[in-house]
Amino acid sequence: MDLDLPDSPSTPPPDPDRSVAVIGGGAVGSTAARDLARWGADVTLFERDAVGAGATGRAAGIVYDAFAEDLDAVVAARALDRFRELSGTGEFELTDRPYVWFAREGDDRNAEAIREQVPRMRANGREVDILSADELAERWPTLRADDVAVAAVAESAGTTTPATYAAATAELAEADGATIETGTAARIETDPVAVRTGDEGGDTDARQFDAVLVAAGARTPGLLADPGIELACEAYRVQALTVGVGTEDDEQRDRAAALPSFYDATGGYYARPKGDELLAGDGTEPVPADPDDWDAESDAWFREDVLEHLSGRVGGVESTASDAWAGLCTATPDRDPLVGELESGLFVATGFHGHGFMRAPAIGELVARQLCGADGVAPFDPTRFDGREEFEIVEGMALDGD
Ligand SMILES: Cc1cc2nc3c(=O)[nH]c(=O)nc-3n(C[C@H](O)[C@H](O)[C@H](O)COP(=O)(O)OP(=O)(O)OC[C@H]3O[C@@H](n4cnc5c(N)ncnc54)[C@H](O)[C@@H]3O)c2cc1C
Repeated sequence: MDLDLPDSPSTPPPDPDRSVAVIGGGAVGSTAARDLARWGADVTLFERDAVGAGATGRAAGIVYDAFAEDLDAVVAARALDRFRELSGTGEFELTDRPYVWFAREGDDRNAEAIREQVPRMRANGREVDILSADELAERWPTLRADDVAVAAVAESAGTTTPATYAAATAELAEADGATIETGTAARIETDPVAVRTGDEGGDTDARQFDAVLVAAGARTPGLLADPGIELACEAYRVQALTVGVGTEDDEQRDRAAALPSFYDATGGYYARPKGDELLAGDGTEPVPADPDDWDAESDAWFREDVLEHLSGRVGGVESTASDAWAGLCTATPDRDPLVGELESGLFVATGFHGHGFMRAPAIGELVARQLCGADGVAPFDPTRFDGREEFEIVEGMALDGD
C-alpha cells in the first residue's frame, strides 16, 4: 500500500496558493498549518487555549509503526520518519525506544492475536519480532516475564513529550508566515466557509477562507454541529499517571529508565520510562464524554489498578503516583479516523482512538495536501458515515485491529 505522497514533505502540492483557516493547535492542526505555510498557503491557526493544550498535551508520547493493517502501517511509518527528522527542533526530542506488547499465560485470545499480527506487520515492512518469555527476560531483566505466554517487539518506536511537538511545528509554521491566534475560540460557517471568533452571539465579522480545517480534537463534532453537520465521532475519557521507581536505589532506577515502552494486553495497561519515572495508563472509559463537562482529574480506582499492575511488573515502583490526569480521545464506528473534505472547502481530521499523536505528522500532511487539491485516502473519507450512526466506543490501546 502506498500513500501517494512525495518522498519529501517539503515538496508542495500542485496548488498551495490559497487562504486556509486551521481550527485547533494540537499535533494534527499544527502539522497541517506548518506544511501549508511552508508550501506558500496563507494560513491562520485558531487555538482556543494554548498550542498543545488539548489531548496532545495529555498524551503519553508513545510512538510506533507496528500496525497490522497496511494503511495504518504506512501512515505510522511516514509519521515516525517525520518525528525523527524534526527531533532536535525547539524543545522537541524523539528518544528511540522499542515498543513491546505481550499476553500472559492463560490469555489465549490476546496470545493468538499477537501471533496473528506479527507476520502481517512484517509483511508491511515493519521491524517486528515475536519474543518468548525467556527472550523478553534476557533483553529486559527488570521487566517481569515469567508469566508471559508470548510477546512481540517493534524496534522502530520511540517516546517523546507530545506538547513539544505541537509547539515546535507551530513555531515553524509561524516562521513560514502563518498567523497563530491562541486564546481564540473559533466557530464555523459554511456556504461560503468562514470563521467567527469571540463570544457566542458576539458580532465579530465572519472571516472567509478558501478552505477551513477543523482539527479541534474532542470538540470537533460540537463545532460542526453549529452549521448542521453531524459527525460519526464520540469523545471518551482516558487516564494516565507518573510514578517514581527505585527512589532509594540508583541501579533499579537506571534499569527502569532503559525499559522499552510496553503494553500488557492481558492487564490492559501500558507504561514507558519518562525521566526518572514511569508514565503509565489504561483507564479508558468506553462511554461518551461531554467536552464541555468532563473530569480532567484522575480517578482513585484508576491509580490503584495501574499501580498494582506496575508494581507486579517492574521492581521498585513507588506506592503513590507523582501525578495523574485524564484527557479526551475520539472514536468512530469503524475505528478509522475521519480525515478529508466534508463539503466544499470544509475539511476535518479527528477520530484517532488514542493513536492520534503517533500518526499526526502523516495525517496532518495528508489533509494539508487535500486542502490543496490532492486526492484523499478513501478509508478515511469522513463522508463514509451519515453522522447519525450509533456505535460502541472501543478502547484505544486494544489489540484487535492494531
Ligand atoms: C492520557 C492520554 C494518553 C495518550 N497517549 C497517546 C500515545 O501515547 N500515543 C498516541 O499516539 N496518542 C495518544 N493519545 C491520543 C492523542 O493524545 C490524540 O489522539 C492526539 O493528541 C489528537 O491530536 P489532535 O490534534 O487531533 O487533537 P488535540 O490535541 O485535542 O487538539 C485539538 C485542539 O483544538 C483546540 N480547540 C478545540 N475547540 C476549538 C475552537 N472552537 N477553536 C479553536 N481551537 C479549538 C483545543 O484546545 C486543542 O488544543 C493519548 C491521549 C490521552 C488523553
